[in-house]
Amino acid sequence: MAAAQSESQKLLILGGTGEAVALAGRLAEDARLAVITSLAGRTREPATAAGALRVGGFGGAAGLAAYLARDSISLLIDATHPFAARMAANAAQACAEAGVPRLKLLRPAWRAVENDNWIDVSDMAAAVEAVSGNGTRAFLSVGRQDLSAFAGLESIWFLVRSIEPLEVPRPLANCAVIQGRGPFSETAELALLEEHRIDLLVSKNSGGEATSAKIAAARRLGLPVVMIARPPAPAGETVETVDEAVAWVAART
Ligand code: NAP
Repeated sequence: MAAAQSESQKLLILGGTGEAVALAGRLAEDARLAVITSLAGRTREPATAAGALRVGGFGGAAGLAAYLARDSISLLIDATHPFAARMAANAAQACAEAGVPRLKLLRPAWRAVENDNWIDVSDMAAAVEAVSGNGTRAFLSVGRQDLSAFAGLESIWFLVRSIEPLEVPRPLANCAVIQGRGPFSETAELALLEEHRIDLLVSKNSGGEATSAKIAAARRLGLPVVMIARPPAPAGETVETVDEAVAWVAART
């Protein structure tokens, strides 16, 4: 057993997504691998991943490069959220410096379909501008770190949903805060939009199944959606699914 441990390759998964949890679950049983999932530590009760867990920032790209060397990490999969741009860039830089093979696991973006009424914007600042004139009661689904960008829109009423109670109970002048953790059903999202008389949805283009029901619900109600494009991902090997990421690891173990 001890021999197997010492011979195993260490795989670091940068997590914070459902895909990261699924990937750890698929790989943790492989005796040739020691799987470590890394979380930023934003959520007090994160979904449990198989294998080992470490929590907290590394201290930038240099800190991560030092961690990779010190802990003899053989492979890294960046399975962070498509909007975690800083971590993705740091991972690319650190792996290049440390000579550690890196894979980006990036779920496909949502694409507008018939009857969608999307107002495509390139970033959060453009989303703030797009809200005015397109609605008065907005479901603001951008994550708690970006709420403050909308603080100047005092004539808009916002519905905010958060996994955990917010440190500031009313982060915007006119808002209601509800708690909830995906996946959400289309029926529940429809009921939520109707209950709060929402006339505009603001969303990051996160992609994936867990939070797509709100987009379908907005389509059903004919609501406009301010859809915020993803930041560019760093160049390098990229796959879209957990299966492909498992195959990438298998080819290297
Ligand atoms: P970010 O802006 O790209 O990263 C900011 C800093 O947080 C990083 O420089 C790093 O600190 C630390 N960090 C981020 N992810 C980490 C990880 N997996 N392990 C260790 N440190 C990490 O990231 P973010 O957008 O704040 O997202 C934070 C976490 O929440 C990510 O793990 C992401 O997968 C998850 N998440 C984000 C969103 C979103 O919309 N942004 C949505 C759902 C889940 P150091 O520089 O000190 O290393």
